[in-house]
Amino acid sequence: MNKILITGGAGFIGSNFIHYILSKYDSYQVINLDKLTYAANLDNLKDIESNKNYKFIHGNIVDKEFIFRLFEDEKFDIVINFAAESHVDNSILNPQIFTITNIFGTQVLLDACKKYNIKRFHQVSTDEVYGDLPLYDKSLLFTEKTPLNPSSPYSASKASADMIVKSYYRTYNLPITISRCSNNYGPYQHFEKLIPSMIYKAINNDELPIYGNGCNIRDWLHVYDHCTAIDLIIHEGKIGEIYNIGGNNEKSNIDIVKIIIKELGKSEKLIKYVNDRPGHDLRYAIDSTKIKTTLNWKPVYSFENGIIDTIRWYTKIL
Ligand code: NAD
Repeated sequence: MNKILITGGAGFIGSNFIHYILSKYDSYQVINLDKLTYAANLDNLKDIESNKNYKFIHGNIVDKEFIFRLFEDEKFDIVINFAAESHVDNSILNPQIFTITNIFGTQVLLDACKKYNIKRFHQVSTDEVYGDLPLYDKSLLFTEKTPLNPSSPYSASKASADMIVKSYYRTYNLPITISRCSNNYGPYQHFEKLIPSMIYKAINNDELPIYGNGCNIRDWLHVYDHCTAIDLIIHEGKIGEIYNIGGNNEKSNIDIVKIIIKELGKSEKLIKYVNDRPGHDLRYAIDSTKIKTTLNWKPVYSFENGIIDTIRWYTKIL
């Protein structure tokens, strides 16, 4: 049986990945290591708490002594690093914790992987490391060769981590892969993020604050499709490589909010335009040709169905 360490597994994407991997394979023992910041929610994993292939450990990836002891005791085969401070607005208010967790924490994990000869370290990164694209030239997309040009302290910390991960491949031959995914939506996301927060506010007939003019564009992917991509990369991806993951679903923030309002039968009068986020990225758009052609990945969710499922999922838990 292979042992897999998931860091940040009590967060949005990590908890979806743990559900995915345990339901797909009997041959993995999954250890979920999470610091349980405000963004974590162990209730996301209640249904698998007693699964014999699953164990939760409370801890911080920045704590080198603790991490090295854990690696010594558990003898992991694969490490997937989801743990991060992930909210851009928080990174504008308090950038330091982003540097500490996202950069130093990643380096501690890399050092442990090096010492304990881990077979694969996978870094879950983001398309935000590329910066942004102009709004009105739809021919421009991020490829894996697009230079890193992050805008926020969050994306800068993720870009820095990516470079350190790459350097451990080049310098120490550490078996790494990196994925850079577009914006995810789906179940178990924290209510601070756009889609759950707008659903929550709309249900309560609260104002729906939209940054600037609402025209900023994101490329949306259902979290399940992100999980299938990571699964393929850790099993079939080429060591040392970076894979972009995206859904070809470019939507402006105002489009997303209007979809939510319509599905919930609310009024567009709830929309309130507020001062723009400092340094707000205009448009993200991902070219996923590499993962599609080399690993045969393709998303199963259409945005139209996935977003309605997601709105209904949040409506049910509220
Ligand atoms: P999230 O904020 O929902 O979850 C992050 C988890 O990491 C939380 O459970 C938190 O407690 C944990 N954590 C934070 N600091 C830690 C530390 N020092 N040690 C151990 N655990 C710690 O984030 P998410 O949306 O699930 O994102 C997961 C990863 O995917 C992040 O690395 C993020 O950069 C990346 N990503 C996210 C998106 C997206 O749309 N959400 C898109 C692309 C990439």
